[in-house]
Amino acid sequence: MSIAVPECKNILRKVGLKSTMTRIAVLQALWEHDKPVSHSDLVQSLQHVGDQATIYRNLISFVDKGLARVASTAAGIVRYELVREGEESHEVHPHFVCQTCGVVTCLPKSTVTTTVDPVWRERLHKSKLQFVGLCTQCEA
Ligand SMILES: [Zn+2]
Ligand SMILES: [Zn+2]
Repeated sequence: MSIAVPECKNILRKVGLKSTMTRIAVLQALWEHDKPVSHSDLVQSLQHVGDQATIYRNLISFVDKGLARVASTAAGIVRYELVREGEESHEVHPHFVCQTCGVVTCLPKSTVTTTVDPVWRERLHKSKLQFVGLCTQCEA
């Protein structure tokens, strides 16, 4: 899935960020990944666009504005993902982390049974749900 530059500019304008070349590139890169990516993953795929520090600053500004969020900190690696349209930034879907290769995969929200207890429902919505196991590739 890819996103066009004018659409990126729209998204950035909506949250009050200026559209710079790097910002657009970081946004596109996050959009194109269907799984959470780390800062170093982004630096690698955006070598031609900007240095590490600039990419990091942009990532942080996206998180500040609710465009992206920290999806996982498995194995001490912070991985980010885009907050998709129609998703509240606190409504985090669960993630599956492979204990062998460390790949983090997004799971649909329906993977988790939510409780009817209002107190816990609120807690669960705000907590980070992470399943740890073997991914299909490592098991094969
Ligand atoms: Zn794996
Ligand atoms: Zn995710």
